[in-house]
Amino acid sequence: MLDTVHVFAGLAIGRQIANPIVAFIVGIISHIILDAIPHWDGDKGKKYEDREKNGECKRVLGRQGKQIIFWDITVTSCIGLLLSVSGILWPDFPDFPSLIAHLYTHPSLIVGVLGALLWDIVYLAYLFYPSEWLKRFTLFSLHKKIQDNETPKKIPSLLFQGVFVLFFVLSFILW
Ligand SMILES: [Zn+2]
Repeated sequence: MLDTVHVFAGLAIGRQIANPIVAFIVGIISHIILDAIPHWDGDKGKKYEDREKNGECKRVLGRQGKQIIFWDITVTSCIGLLLSVSGILWPDFPDFPSLIAHLYTHPSLIVGVLGALLWDIVYLAYLFYPSEWLKRFTLFSLHKKIQDNETPKKIPSLLFQGVFVLFFVLSFILW
């Protein structure tokens, strides 16, 4: 799914699970469960492009992939800002030390998000630094297999993923 969904799933997990190690593991599992649901997160051949460089075929982030990352960051930042201004995520907004203190006493929030994003972070790292180790991790991982399901249409799927984001944000606020 889009990383906006994964970020807020990780945040909701971090809110529920105080133990950072457990929150991290549940975050990792949440990514697989969410990705197993058929979703649109880019078109094949547009999100990534295969380019030839020095006789070697290299997979790079395509124009659409960059747009998706841009919108993921923008939407996530906007919702994060709303949660901050309202004092839910950032107790004494905009007093920066209060945010650091809050995250320090609630490490599972950050760790939950990191766990939820791990699979995609590894894949992005592979695109920029295509090492053998990362290749093995990305090509034969459960993550890649689970993504190979049928892709639904873009707009309905974006709305569907929006509902997931709303659910995770509300669960973060309310529970
Ligand atoms: Zn994924």
